[in-house]
Amino acid sequence: MSLKDVKPQVGDKTAEGKLVTLTNICKSFDNEEILKNVNLYIKDKTFVTLLGPSGCGKTTILRIIGGFETPSSGEVYFGDTIMNDVPPHKRPVNTVFQKYALFPHLNVFENIAFGLRIKKLPEAEIKAAVKKMLALVDLKGYERRPINKLSGGQQQRVAIARALVNMPKLLLLDEPLGALDLKLRKDMQLELKKIQQQANITFIYVTHDQEEALTMSDIIVVMKSGKIQQIGTPQDIYNEPANAFVADFIGESNIIDAVMTENKKVTFCGHEFDCVDDRFEDTTLVDVVVRPEDVDVTSPENGMVCGVVEDSVFKGVHYEMTVKCGEYYWLIHSTDSQPVGATIGMSLDPDCIHIMRKMFPTTETHIDIDEFTVEDGKVTFTLEDSEFTVDDASVSEDDSLSAVFEPFDIQITAENEGDFNGYLDSVIYKSYYNEMIVITDNNRWLVKSYSDEQVGTTVGVKINPQAIRLEKKEAAQNEV
Ligand code: ATP
Repeated sequence: MSLKDVKPQVGDKTAEGKLVTLTNICKSFDNEEILKNVNLYIKDKTFVTLLGPSGCGKTTILRIIGGFETPSSGEVYFGDTIMNDVPPHKRPVNTVFQKYALFPHLNVFENIAFGLRIKKLPEAEIKAAVKKMLALVDLKGYERRPINKLSGGQQQRVAIARALVNMPKLLLLDEPLGALDLKLRKDMQLELKKIQQQANITFIYVTHDQEEALTMSDIIVVMKSGKIQQIGTPQDIYNEPANAFVADFIGESNIIDAVMTENKKVTFCGHEFDCVDDRFEDTTLVDVVVRPEDVDVTSPENGMVCGVVEDSVFKGVHYEMTVKCGEYYWLIHSTDSQPVGATIGMSLDPDCIHIMRKMFPTTETHIDIDEFTVEDGKVTFTLEDSEFTVDDASVSEDDSLSAVFEPFDIQITAENEGDFNGYLDSVIYKSYYNEMIVITDNNRWLVKSYSDEQVGTTVGVKINPQAIRLEKKEAAQNEV
């Protein structure tokens, strides 16, 4: 295992077995960039899932592949043919949406046969094709059943049969199980995987449900804010997440601030652990990811670190414990029951410690202040259209300044209730606080907060002027 950076696979349309290749795809709506240079190839006969939080651009990618949207720039290849301007009905693709819109006045047979009748195929051929599809989706004997007499799961299977009967090379599925209840959804997940394997074609599936993605996919493409974060098998994505966002999004994990000053050693929670990664050349600060099932519970004297059990819930196979270790709360899955209040030891194998590059490059937000006024020891400047005044008698008008904002001193409020608004690009639970990245027109802000916020929303940002620190930039820099 080596240190991980984000390495999307770049489409190679000439390589064998690649059904669809997207190269440098960008898409903007109303001047807002929704997809930012997406590079991806999809191999023939695989089950590929686009996974990510709401609004990250999954459906837009699907619609571009289906021909319902045109990219602002970049190429869509089917094999080695550019398809950018080819309309949906001329692509070897069918789509199943969440709202699958079956024809209520037609029975199951006629719903599935609909596309073939439009193509005016001979009756015997239609019968044979529909029969095959009914067997594939496990609805043999339902031919004459009216659509409104079917359960949600059965209707979904009819929708899939209706799409597959046209023999597409590629089936696009946009959250098709979203309307079903949990039990049915779980059954249908396994069913869909079976159907894909038996039909022996490619499925591209969109979901924001990580468990669904892990259950069904050969390959998962994890997305955030219009960018691919990681492409890999479910095992790769779970065991070797590319960054803290992926680790947080896929399964449960402990994500802890850590320091790495030498190779294969990492310090967190007051202990220097052995790990298998080398340090990054440009920073000692890293995030460590530890899966709850990878923590070994020991006696306090045998543990690498100790903690106190705060909470323990039996989950059927294991106990889920919250253990306070310093200021961090570790989530642990163990078959060993430990009572609340007990002090326990915790140990980690080196290869269970995953080292991640931090998503924000510095520990505080630094912003250059190009224009400011100084009067009576008060420095006044404008940031994001809001005026701030900071007491600092040491500043003169000839100085070149930057303002430094401590992450815990920036407060997130409701939209329009702060000093300015920003887009909440990332929220990662760091075992006792939430680390957030807020994007404004000109800056990225690092915020640490005990409150929970919804990623992908517009929030207010409130800054306490007392907590702004002004730093003078070097004289040498001033002369440039
Ligand atoms: P969800 O899971 O909520 O469907 P998603 O990841 O599939 O999310 P998209 O549907 O691709 O996301 O949308 C990405 C962004 O693009 C959203 O902010 C959405 O509002 C915007 N968007 C999508 N289609 C259009 C459009 N036709 N016009 C304007 N904005 C659009």
